[in-house]
Amino acid sequence: MQSEMQVLIVEDSAVYRKLISDNLKAWGFRVTVAENGAQASAVLERPDSPKLVLLDWVLPDIEGIELCQQIREAGPSRPYVYVILLTSKEGRQNMLEAMQAGADDYLVKPFDESELKARLMVGKRILNLQDELVEAREAMRHAATHDSLTELLNRGEILDMLQRELERARRERKPLTVILADIDHFKQVNDTLGHLFGDQALQEIARRLRSSLRVYDWIGRYGGEEFLLVLPGCDLEDGMARSNELRELVAGTPVVALDAQKDITVSMGVAVSECVGKGEVEALLSRADGALYAAKGQGRNRVAHCASAPKKRGASQASQK
Ligand code: GH3
Ligand code: MG
Ligand code: MG
Ligand code: MG
Repeated sequence: MQSEMQVLIVEDSAVYRKLISDNLKAWGFRVTVAENGAQASAVLERPDSPKLVLLDWVLPDIEGIELCQQIREAGPSRPYVYVILLTSKEGRQNMLEAMQAGADDYLVKPFDESELKARLMVGKRILNLQDELVEAREAMRHAATHDSLTELLNRGEILDMLQRELERARRERKPLTVILADIDHFKQVNDTLGHLFGDQALQEIARRLRSSLRVYDWIGRYGGEEFLLVLPGCDLEDGMARSNELRELVAGTPVVALDAQKDITVSMGVAVSECVGKGEVEALLSRADGALYAAKGQGRNRVAHCASAPKKRGASQASQK
């Protein structure tokens, strides 16, 4: 049996407590003991509490079965606790009740070592399966919301974040800046240095952009070589300053990969939610896109922002380098 799983033994009989603990320790489990329901509840409240519990049916302050119900009431947000209820021969006919209360298994006292070991093996196997399931679910959630090349949020997710942050900004009457950043002449980078270099350059630029964000900022891969940044609380002045810092962070150091090196730049379009009457996502993005288009037109490696009144694409101003 593999080691290291933590087991809580809830047992008021000193004899059984010792007998079970000695066995479990010999089999490589880490053991925590509780003599009554109150002690057991306190242990189970701890952040890293045991997930495998051997629970005596008759305790001085509470019925084991009640404690079992309490564990189940903790809800699905808590890790699953596997409960093996211990009972005497007389309690055997109540086992159906115990299982209904949420016990996973039971053992009738007196039991022999191999019986105990067998029950623990089953519990441990189920808990391990449970962990694998949770991990798989997390991995799927990550894959569904992140871009696999850059590890940034994917397009759908960054747009959801923008929607959420925009609603919050409106509620709190705070500004919000969006930046659309597009790598300059990236087709040429691929054409001259190869697609693999291009991929690594994308990863490196994503890393640089992400490294300069504050905890409450968001960044996602918006398209092939385009990134969308959402900066809550940033007004136009801050937004322009931050964009220029980001631009310099990319332009300042060449990208080195696969025995090659290349100066790479980005152009950026900035739009602030204050500029947009209703604060809608599409309107804000189309303003940022217009500003990006202007930055490209003005020579690239630049930041431009949208004019305050809604105009058509290209109606951007104040580009700077
Ligand atoms: P501009 O300065 O006007 O933005 O020019 P550009 O060449 O960057 O723009 P264009 O839209 O013509 O080309 C974008 C290029 O980005 C073309 C495409 O092959 C490349 N690209 C998009 N996604 C990826 C990717 O995941 N990996 C690599 N290596 N290249 C990509
Ligand atoms: Mg007892
Ligand atoms: Mg592009
Ligand atoms: Mg480009």
